[in-house]
Amino acid sequence: MPEGNKTYEYDVVTLGGGPGGGAAARQVARRGGRACIVEAGPLGGVCLNIGCIPTKAMLAASDLAWRMRQAGRFGIAPVAPKVDGPAFMRRVAEVVAELAGRSEAAVQANKQIDLIRGRGRLVDAHTVAVDTPEGQKRVTGRAVVVATGSSAARPGFLPWDSPALGGPKGRLMTTDEAVTAPDLPAGVIVMGGGVIGCEMATVYCELGIPTTVIEMLPDLLPGMDDEAGQAAAASLAERGATILTGRRVLSMSDAGDGVVAKLDDGTEVRAAAALVAVGRKANVENIGLAEAGVRVAGGIIPVDDRCRTNVEGVYAVGDVAERRQYAHLADRMGVVAAENVMGIDLADDRTVVPVGAYTHPEAASVGLTLAEAKQQPRSAARVFRYSYAHAGMALASGETHGQIKIVADADTGRIYGALWIGPHAIDMIQEIALAMRHGLTMAQLYHTIHAHPTFQEAAMLAAEGWLAQSMRKRDK
Ligand SMILES: Cc1cc2nc3c(=O)[nH]c(=O)nc-3n(C[C@H](O)[C@H](O)[C@H](O)COP(=O)(O)OP(=O)(O)OC[C@H]3O[C@@H](n4cnc5c(N)ncnc54)[C@H](O)[C@@H]3O)c2cc1C
Repeated sequence: MPEGNKTYEYDVVTLGGGPGGGAAARQVARRGGRACIVEAGPLGGVCLNIGCIPTKAMLAASDLAWRMRQAGRFGIAPVAPKVDGPAFMRRVAEVVAELAGRSEAAVQANKQIDLIRGRGRLVDAHTVAVDTPEGQKRVTGRAVVVATGSSAARPGFLPWDSPALGGPKGRLMTTDEAVTAPDLPAGVIVMGGGVIGCEMATVYCELGIPTTVIEMLPDLLPGMDDEAGQAAAASLAERGATILTGRRVLSMSDAGDGVVAKLDDGTEVRAAAALVAVGRKANVENIGLAEAGVRVAGGIIPVDDRCRTNVEGVYAVGDVAERRQYAHLADRMGVVAAENVMGIDLADDRTVVPVGAYTHPEAASVGLTLAEAKQQPRSAARVFRYSYAHAGMALASGETHGQIKIVADADTGRIYGALWIGPHAIDMIQEIALAMRHGLTMAQLYHTIHAHPTFQEAAMLAAEGWLAQSMRKRDK
């Protein structure tokens, strides 16, 4: 690939073949360019192998178990399902293997993409050195996309190396171990009540596994609207979990047949195993960033709206470059980087990003909270809600713990953001994301016919609230 007076083997070399690197390579290939993916592990990254997919396979199964117990509410004799841990975890592994096989085959079939297996590092802005089983290879690209992702944080004060807790015993786990374990734990302490901690706690308590969630902040799901955390706490408690917020774990140690956690209020919590879900660290170490002159700040690689780093020709996408660690954002950044590599000037400021927790019910959000929206110039931001307590589909489905809360401008109807709590909220928030992305207003949302009865119509009914207040204002 000629550029100036230099020739490179590829248009792009991606360091990492997860959602970000994979999307970048596919987009370059679609544009007729040549891409090389350098990947140390399985294709699909954290998302496919130890993240989004296995956790959702676990959540689908735990939801079934919970519904079986709840059947009495629907006039059906409830059953107390007997969970077969090894079979449960085998299905999770099968789902991952199926998708991994398809994703590998798609890359192998793509004549525009080469795959080099091995750990790579930047040598300079255009060269990646890869340690492969056959020795070191060097590969050059007109551009390099750093997409090395993130790794589960393992706080240093916990005994990861303890023979009794760490290693194969697997009593002290991150999600890396929890989603690939051959069996389920008999009881679990979940340290960290963020999105991942709450999802895993949902799985365990729905399966009837004694579960305690310990979160140092006052609410679960920190970073989301407070009502999301409150809904998650209520649903976990309803499913039998113990929620300890505002408490910090000081230590964990071997309790003979399990783990004992000491908390800062002097209490102790015991369980067969502990899952540590306290965040993820961007993979910025040992990948040659300093050698290539790529800047790291606050633990990530800062990038602009075209995913460019400070070094020309070097892009960074996904978890290594963003604090919001979501597969769809990594994928989008991969596409943006690729378009720019291929000469299509595409900028994306990444403001409209739907995010969420697959708790039961789900909590999804996009855009700004009310407090954030109020800071906008000339803002008349207000909340317009529709509660599932009034919704036909919610009542019919026995799913009344939900609502949509749209933050919109009372005068113009501009949508600043939304929180949606309820079944399939993460699918449905997409409507608000689409509206925001294309500058649609509450009036336009209201005037779009929504099928009835659906959970989705809650968006239209919240917009109806906006219309009603705007008519009242006009009539005054
Ligand atoms: C338990 C869990 C559940 C999650 N659930 C969701 C969810 O439901 N929805 C969602 O959107 N997100 C979810 N995420 C987050 C999502 O998995 C990540 O945001 C996403 O995988 C990031 O993609 P990425 O391409 O940036 O990095 P990664 O997926 O981390 O991929 C990076 C790849 O780079 C490779 N690599 C790293 N260093 C090198 C090197 N030096 N040489 C070669 N290869 C290298 C790695 O092997 C890896 O395959 C979840 C994460 C976890 C842990």
